[in-house]
Amino acid sequence: MQLMIVEDDDAVATALADAVRASGHDALRVSRGSDALLQHHSAQMILLDLGLPDLDGLEVLRKLRLVTNAPIIILSARNDERSVVRGLRLGADDYLIKPIGLAVLLARIDAVARRAFVQTQGVSDLQVGPLHIDIEKRAAFLQGHELALTAKEFDLLALLANHAGSVVTREQILDSLWGDAFVAVSRSLDVHLTGLRAKLNTPGMIVNVRGVGYRLETPGP
Ligand code: CA
Repeated sequence: MQLMIVEDDDAVATALADAVRASGHDALRVSRGSDALLQHHSAQMILLDLGLPDLDGLEVLRKLRLVTNAPIIILSARNDERSVVRGLRLGADDYLIKPIGLAVLLARIDAVARRAFVQTQGVSDLQVGPLHIDIEKRAAFLQGHELALTAKEFDLLALLANHAGSVVTREQILDSLWGDAFVAVSRSLDVHLTGLRAKLNTPGMIVNVRGVGYRLETPGP
């Protein structure tokens, strides 16, 4: 498993990375919250310090949770009840208080990983009403007819279909297609969306939820 260690204290980060590697995992170190937001794709789990030089760790957590379901363990010297409760409510899977013994930390990492990865299953095919998507072949069919989609249009459609009936936020889409939820490539998203809608040629299939994102719906009879 690849763990991303978000920690600005070099000595602490080195000790954590050594322990993580000694237990057979890979460690990726970043010291800034903004780097955590850019590099989370390569991480299957995230260890997050709260006192970071550029962003507060709780803000990093909130933003990460908009775009990733990867388990996040907060590791902080902040031991007040308010911070712990906020961290867990914002979506942390565990909250550990520094200093912590490395053996305890590794046991917590394993416990969180066991819970998290039981549910994860690879999806190879998606069916949403008349829409069929073959993820492996990267092909989409509407009522049996293959759609001639660009790579980005396909990614966008697969993402929406994977969450059919629920809103996918613009941040999630930008993050999934461009690897960065918080940098402005929004205009090109609009272009791909227009192209995809034209090819689907089914009004009401991609619903714009104003100010939030988009939802794929099965068209009514
Ligand atoms: Ca710190």
